[in-house]
Amino acid sequence: MRAMVLERIGEPLKLVERLDPEPAQGQVRVRVAACGVCRTDLHVVDGELPNPKLPIVPGHEIVGRIDAVGAGVAALAVDMRVGIPWLSHTCGRCRYCRDDRENLCDHPLFTGYTRDGGYATHVVADAHFVFRLPDDGDDVAAAPLLCAGLIGWRSLRMAGDGKSIGLYGFGAAAHIVAQLARWQGRDVFAFTRAGDGAAQDFARRLGACWAGSSEDRPPEPLDCAIIYAPVGALVPLALGAVRKGGRVVCAGIHMSDIPCFPYSLLWEERELLSVANLTRKDGEELFAVVGEAGVATHTTPYPLDRANDALSDLRTGRLQGAAVVVP
Ligand SMILES: [Zn+2]
Ligand SMILES: [Zn+2]
Repeated sequence: MRAMVLERIGEPLKLVERLDPEPAQGQVRVRVAACGVCRTDLHVVDGELPNPKLPIVPGHEIVGRIDAVGAGVAALAVDMRVGIPWLSHTCGRCRYCRDDRENLCDHPLFTGYTRDGGYATHVVADAHFVFRLPDDGDDVAAAPLLCAGLIGWRSLRMAGDGKSIGLYGFGAAAHIVAQLARWQGRDVFAFTRAGDGAAQDFARRLGACWAGSSEDRPPEPLDCAIIYAPVGALVPLALGAVRKGGRVVCAGIHMSDIPCFPYSLLWEERELLSVANLTRKDGEELFAVVGEAGVATHTTPYPLDRANDALSDLRTGRLQGAAVVVP
């Protein structure tokens, strides 16, 4: 197999050849057709998340077909089209697993962070954490659903059922969530970096009724807001944009420090919460509605050996929608 590997934090990924991984008991091996590039991958290569496995193959938005099945796997077979998400393994025993909150498991493994991921021709995964996908379909278009879509869906649900919703940072997740929110009949307000007219136009094309800079006040107080950009300064801005009783959801795994803000921004029963990881149920829910909602992802493909370019284009905001590595 070939893989793009992070050997040391802060270094570019290196293309390496390795023996194909063998699926252990309960695992499958997948020939990767496409792997989305998530902002979390930048946090991994930059060392902003603690204790990554090193060396590590990043990538946790994987679409491909099973090409080998380990012992004890009954539900999956060779040639099935599947998706592999960020949540790769849970203990099944801790209080969070028992309480239907496996996204908070005490002893999890994560694809592309503590277990090798999808910037590669092949990857192994626990069969129980793999999603079956329809047999036909565009692999590149489906890849961003595996994290941007999943975390997007979870964050949208946790934002509550308010009609007007603000999305801060209009990247891979927001461009999917905007379509889901429109399908649900909500009004979408898109907030981007100041002066990013291209992202604001993109948001309007996806159905946003208003798009502007994160520093702008929306034309009316919003019911809820979700922050996708890893920028702590957006927290007080978003709290200032929601109405009394409104809710602000932080959807990223890492964020710069949140600046001090006056209590009046939280007062009047505004709520502030974070979303961590995903559950398998989130995936089942998302894949059940994504076709009906008519979600179309906007992708930019990169060959495997150009994964570093995909990461740097994501970092500098040169992309519209999602980058996808195609081995
Ligand atoms: Zn657990
Ligand atoms: Zn992700």
